[in-house]
Amino acid sequence: MTGLYERESRSVSTLAHLRFFPQAVTGGKGSMLRGDDGRDLLDFAASWGAASLGHGHPALAEAVNRALSDQAGASYLSTANEPSVLLAEKLLSLVPKRAAGRVWFGHSGSDANETVARAVVAATGRPRIISFKGAYHGGTVGSVAISGHPAQGGIEKASGLSLVPYPDSYASGSPEAASKAALAHIEELFATSVSPQEVAAFFIEPIQSDGGMLVPPPGYFREIERLCRKHGILLVCDEVKVGLARTGRLHAFKHSGIEPDIVVFGKGLGGGLPISAVVGPEAIMNHASTFSFQTLHGNPVCASAGLAVLETIERENLVENAAKVGDTMLSALRALQEKHPLIGHVRGHGLAIGVELVSDREARTPAIEQTALTVYRAFQLGLVIYYVGLNSNVLEFTPPLNLSEDEALRGITILDQALSDVEAGRVDPQLLERFAGW
Ligand SMILES: *Cc1c(COP(=O)(O)O)cnc(C)c1O
Repeated sequence: MTGLYERESRSVSTLAHLRFFPQAVTGGKGSMLRGDDGRDLLDFAASWGAASLGHGHPALAEAVNRALSDQAGASYLSTANEPSVLLAEKLLSLVPKRAAGRVWFGHSGSDANETVARAVVAATGRPRIISFKGAYHGGTVGSVAISGHPAQGGIEKASGLSLVPYPDSYASGSPEAASKAALAHIEELFATSVSPQEVAAFFIEPIQSDGGMLVPPPGYFREIERLCRKHGILLVCDEVKVGLARTGRLHAFKHSGIEPDIVVFGKGLGGGLPISAVVGPEAIMNHASTFSFQTLHGNPVCASAGLAVLETIERENLVENAAKVGDTMLSALRALQEKHPLIGHVRGHGLAIGVELVSDREARTPAIEQTALTVYRAFQLGLVIYYVGLNSNVLEFTPPLNLSEDEALRGITILDQALSDVEAGRVDPQLLERFAGW
């Protein structure tokens, strides 16, 4: 147990903690973090994808320093500032035409999704929203209200919310079976309990990350898009975790061949600074003023960071890098599957990868404790990964977008060792006592 971690426990609240092992860091460079015990840690989590350019990227440091040294205020509520206008213009140029109306800025995926949920209902006059079981759209009251993640049990849902199952190709036996069952559920919903004319929006994650890094079956979201268009339902794509180059395309929804009406960005957009953005049609985004704001929204420092991230993604070809290094990782992980009975399924696109661990491949029984022990053991060996999923049994990989092939393979070698140690019973379950994860 390191000194900093212990000190933290005496001063910092646990309310925001989601802890898997006693990680305490004092700095970082690129894909590496430095532990306060002097150990180097290879960071395959990148703070849940937020550190999209890795740690201490010079372009980000330069942009932030510049914005602070001649500071155009600290908010866009009552004044226009250049960085937020430039970032809005840039984002409008990147999304499909039907979404390219106006941009709203916030601090987080949570405030962004909450704002969308309120705006679509207010602007359309339709009271209902559809989203997925297992969906994570945020941690504020209004974003929890449209989420379906079991870690948020006990917090009230929106009164007009319907949660529908996200297709799970592995659990269902095949992508076709998963797609068919999930679509049948929605048809049943429309036929029996929800009038589609009352639905303002359908919130989707193009890959359901916190729900288990579920990759949708081919064609599935095209069907959802068709249903939305037919009934005048706005298709809202939450790209917060897997968007902006992570999947090897600029937008994760590109893999499904759909065009959302509203796109939500967060996490990696700021590269470590708090900024989120909603891009959508003018009729929604200009519905009213003084509708959804916090004082520091649209501040020029975070907007400059967002701009630097988007420019760096282009300049350093990070879409291509995520695709290439992601393929290397996926192949290496599939090779590990031959060797480790714990690995039930490997899935993902680019650098958004999930590895589902099972104690029985035939029955696909979630290996819950082994998953927690694997991330703990990987941390001891120098690799940072966390886990996700409705059963807490999916290792999640969201490393920096500029991860090298060499780093990718080094991390997988560590994971290989961690899995061997867990399978051989060499990792003490008592280590988990203080680390509930989720
Ligand atoms: C993390 C996440 C959010 C919430 O973002 P915060 O920055 O934690 O508020 C919303 N949607 C998705 C898909 C996420 O992964």
